[in-house]
Amino acid sequence: MNRDARLLGKSGHFFTNWATTYSCQPELFFEPTTTEEIRQILACARDRGKKVRVIGKGHSPSDLACTTDYMISLEKYNRVRSVDRQLCQIKVEGGMTIQELNDNVLPANNMALSVQGSVSNLTIAGVMCTGTHGTGELHGIMSTCVKEFEIMTASGDIMDITEETYPELFRAVSVSLGAFGVILTVTLQCEPAYNLHQSQYGCKLDQVLENLNVHITASDHFRFMWFPFTDSVVCYHAKRTTKAPQNDPSWFWNVVVGYYVLEFLLWISTFLPFLVCYINRLYYRLHCAPKECVDRGDRIFNFDCLFKQYVMEWAIPREKTALVLKDIEAWIINSNFPAHFPIEVRFVKADDIYLSPAYGRETCYINIIMYRPYNKYVPFEEYWNAFADIVLKVGGRPHWAKDHSLTADRLRSLYPGWDRFCQLRLQYDPNGMFLNANLERVFGLFLKRK
Ligand SMILES: Cc1cc2nc3c(=O)[nH]c(=O)nc-3n(C[C@H](O)[C@H](O)[C@H](O)COP(=O)(O)OP(=O)(O)OC[C@H]3O[C@@H](n4cnc5c(N)ncnc54)[C@H](O)[C@@H]3O)c2cc1C
Repeated sequence: MNRDARLLGKSGHFFTNWATTYSCQPELFFEPTTTEEIRQILACARDRGKKVRVIGKGHSPSDLACTTDYMISLEKYNRVRSVDRQLCQIKVEGGMTIQELNDNVLPANNMALSVQGSVSNLTIAGVMCTGTHGTGELHGIMSTCVKEFEIMTASGDIMDITEETYPELFRAVSVSLGAFGVILTVTLQCEPAYNLHQSQYGCKLDQVLENLNVHITASDHFRFMWFPFTDSVVCYHAKRTTKAPQNDPSWFWNVVVGYYVLEFLLWISTFLPFLVCYINRLYYRLHCAPKECVDRGDRIFNFDCLFKQYVMEWAIPREKTALVLKDIEAWIINSNFPAHFPIEVRFVKADDIYLSPAYGRETCYINIIMYRPYNKYVPFEEYWNAFADIVLKVGGRPHWAKDHSLTADRLRSLYPGWDRFCQLRLQYDPNGMFLNANLERVFGLFLKRK
């Protein structure tokens, strides 16, 4: 096909991320269906000196996916390439969503992902690029389940990368913020399909912090949610089970009270911020009663993220969990900032991926949130800055998909593999085709050869 690849693109496309906090208007928007079309788009970008950003489902709560040059959506490049039932592995195209995998692809093959984040409307390549994670002592970020991937680099060449063929590139591209090229396919290590039995109950924050390791090792997937302005948390323990799924009768009330009523209450609190502490206490009471449920693994991992929100998340050394949470508690009490619930705390196994926030250390992720009821702006900056100051004191690393203000110098000191990552990126994308404003901030001086 020799036609001008620009004809494949649409102008006038308006991109906004899921949270509607960042948007952009790319010069051309592409939705390729074949590898050859992707190659043509990159050739066209090369000829015209254009930047290229590939997007998944646009769920990153930052400007990570934005560009004003060429934007490629892999929404239509989302097929299953092969399934190996014996090895429990599946090879899919980069635009495949976790939702489609969970609902149709994996159950049909009696397989399941071993760990996931809170939502499934994400692409496998997007998840991989940003170091998306779930929780569980024995589970790394989701990129650690990737066995192999194919990438199309700025030159249009396709590289098939495994830990054996290109060990360094494997460690670099496994969390790479879209900076190395178009991730065409991903081969995932899955496990036989399973159900999870989840126990949920309320208890004191201090009790959890004092017995943290006991909690983390007591089940396959432990997390807890702290409700600021209370001294209490809701714990969630999930274990693999042979029991059959049970219907959850509280679903209706969760939607009505957890969604419509909460949004209205939080909207009122934007005029009367002192109400936030009562809202948090009320919602703690609604969540703290002990509850058991059994369901398919992904349905336990996922939960409704309610309405639009500002979020910020950092990864800290696991042993600093108590110190950091107590500092956040002290800051909220002293400043009386109307911090929304929940502060979500999850645990992830160490890995050796250069830019993984869990690189080289057992990790605790702490996610803070400010909802935007009816999409209204809600002040969050003071809270975000205080949180960043606290986690940076213990070597915190930001979640790549979420807002943070760190630049190259600081990041370099947090990541032992930083220099190697930057050298490899320069080698495979010497002209910076895959950069955007976010990556220029993040990589700064390391974008050019010294
Ligand atoms: C409601 C909600 C809940 C969330 N829950 C969690 C959670 O529990 N745990 C967690 O860790 N994170 C969570 N996140 C963050 C989310 O997992 C990441 O933002 C993820 O990257 C989104 O996937 P996406 O397909 O939307 O990617 P996008 O946001 O579209 O893209 C993310 C990055 O991947 C790059 N990219 C995408 N596809 C390709 C490709 N084929 N080739 C090269 N680069 C590519 C983009 O250029 C961009 O840099 C959540 C976000 C939201 C909005």
